[in-house]
Amino acid sequence: MLFADLSLVDEFQTELDEIKVNQAKLHARQLVILNQLERAGVSSRSGARTMAEWTATRLDIPAGTAKELVAAANRLGRDPWLFDELAAGRLSLERAMATVRLEATEAPMSVVDKSFELELAAVSRLTHKYRRMNRHDERRVFADRHFVIQPSLDESRWRMWGELPGKDGRIVDQALSERADEMRQLPGGGHFTQGQRQADALVGMAQDSLSRSHGGVDSAGGPEGVVFVDLDLANGSGGELGAEVEYGPRVGPNTLEELLCSGSVQLVGLQDGKPAIASGNTRTIPPAVRRFVAWRDGGCSVAGCHSRYRLQPHHIRHRANGGDHDPENLATLCWFHHHVAVHGAGFRLTDEGPPSCRQLIAPQRYRGPPEG
Ligand SMILES: [Zn+2]
Ligand SMILES: [Zn+2]
Repeated sequence: MLFADLSLVDEFQTELDEIKVNQAKLHARQLVILNQLERAGVSSRSGARTMAEWTATRLDIPAGTAKELVAAANRLGRDPWLFDELAAGRLSLERAMATVRLEATEAPMSVVDKSFELELAAVSRLTHKYRRMNRHDERRVFADRHFVIQPSLDESRWRMWGELPGKDGRIVDQALSERADEMRQLPGGGHFTQGQRQADALVGMAQDSLSRSHGGVDSAGGPEGVVFVDLDLANGSGGELGAEVEYGPRVGPNTLEELLCSGSVQLVGLQDGKPAIASGNTRTIPPAVRRFVAWRDGGCSVAGCHSRYRLQPHHIRHRANGGDHDPENLATLCWFHHHVAVHGAGFRLTDEGPPSCRQLIAPQRYRGPPEG
């Protein structure tokens, strides 16, 4: 909307300024009254638990706003200069409260004086900077520490959240970030987000901890055992079979393929909910072949990768697609390239070239529609 008459804009601006002044004056009056009513014990007489609760109901405002108002009534009552500025309409209530909070820190008076030239957001940053944590605050933060990890109903995904005291949080953050930085970038310039790499880092750290407590035995992908496959479903799904790890999380075909790579899993096919067939030792890579492949590759097979972290055998042609334990079909991969890049993100390892110098192909390059 365009004003034909520019003097109308000036008029509106002047009116806004007047409203601001009046609002401040009304707030000052409101605070005086709240203070008096609190002293008279109005909240307990009317059945409210606190003065803030009474104020929220009486003024029909959110609980947080009411709490701020009551706090302002208490604090500004003890600061005559700030109160007078508010009552004269020279400061807004928000500015007066921001100043009270800054004064309550150990900020020098010169900083408080200068804060009147700053925006409100900058004043609250200053307040955080000067706020000293006392023993009581510290204990409360320590007592509030917690961590929650919770599976979805079918355990196909887990959520986690929590809160840590400052120094402890920094330790976890630094460890996760350093670990995430070790995660290599993907071929073809692709990369995972920082959040994805930190998630991988967390899993890696947990695995290291487990294998330390289990005598250094690498179980390549977590605790394993028996995997149940519903044959009725599997037969109609063209190999896209989901499976259930015994007493464990429900897994999809990608995880199943990874479990089968490790060769330490027994498959049990279920028909009508009863075991119909069970895989025998053929599922296990013969130890001699396993050792030969590890020796032949001398580390991760991916060209340019020098990682020796949790080296695992991988079936280039997946077991589910009829791939066997022939050394030609096996390649050694580090945890990142095996767990994250291949079975997680869907990269494919080529079977061309020398065994210790293989390429990874990005999923879209072989899954995409043919160009015409
Ligand atoms: Zn694999
Ligand atoms: Zn690697």
